[in-house]
Amino acid sequence: MKKFGLLGKNISYSFSPTLHNRIFQLYNIDGEYKIYDLKDEVLIDDFLKQLKKDGILGINITIPYKTSILKFVDEISDEVKDIGAANCIKFKDDKIIAYNTDYFGLLKTFKKMGLNLAYKKVVILGSGGAAKAAVKALLDLKAIVYIVSRDINKASKKIENVFTISYEDLNEVSGYLIINATPVGTFPNINKSPIFKETIQNFDFVLDLIYNPKETLFLKFAKAKNKKIENGLYMLVSQGVKSQEIWNEVDLNYEKVYNDLISEVYK
Ligand code: NAP
Repeated sequence: MKKFGLLGKNISYSFSPTLHNRIFQLYNIDGEYKIYDLKDEVLIDDFLKQLKKDGILGINITIPYKTSILKFVDEISDEVKDIGAANCIKFKDDKIIAYNTDYFGLLKTFKKMGLNLAYKKVVILGSGGAAKAAVKALLDLKAIVYIVSRDINKASKKIENVFTISYEDLNEVSGYLIINATPVGTFPNINKSPIFKETIQNFDFVLDLIYNPKETLFLKFAKAKNKKIENGLYMLVSQGVKSQEIWNEVDLNYEKVYNDLISEVYK
């Protein structure tokens, strides 16, 4: 049996086992996907050594270890070099290799939305891990990126075509796409939006990385303004599918997995 899992802290709620078990069913992979809840970063080194001994093929990494995991790996992929965080590692030939499949999930999501991002202005709300993966994906597609942060001094980047602004400055900005990469609006706090309805008017496309609820207040505002919207489920599915592609060295059908899961997730 092929063994995989998810490393994080307080992650018993995670949707990832459902996603990966579904991929195993759809592709007849004899696999198991376990949750590994670690209380502290100091435990990671021994944990990885144990996984190696147990013949685990790969694991996903989630909050709060996406950056700290990099201290314990042997190789990092190009996207991880730029983003500075990993959410997927592969054990191969006695080596531990780090990838960022959130980045691939975002590229897939932009494609699904039919976006043409070259030289377009894109606003990202929040400056955390998902926002960093989005910056890399958007720059690769030649977009011009505005990061909106509650603390512009902390979030500022000295990167060409990346600007950091405050929520107040955002009122003066318009653009092609706006992405919510904050947790604001996640279940159960579904009556919150990171920005006002009026500000959403200034954008053509609206993406929320949140997938629970299916339609956040942010997306409801966008829908009311007749904007084209997308939630975070396609990204979530795509980062998982990409992880399985990396671990098993195969090509999988993203649409097939997404279409299969959407009916289960939003019953
Ligand atoms: P994170 O590293 O904690 O970053 C979240 C960022 O949002 C923070 O850096 C902060 O930026 C901002 N923020 C936090 N609390 C806020 C508040 N109360 N009001 C306004 N801004 C706030 O989290 P993450 O991993 O990037 O995840 C962000 C969101 O994306 C979460 O909802 C997560 O579930 C979602 N996500 C979805 C997928 C997917 O596959 N669909 C993958 C990854 C993440 P500032 O301090 O600069 O304001």
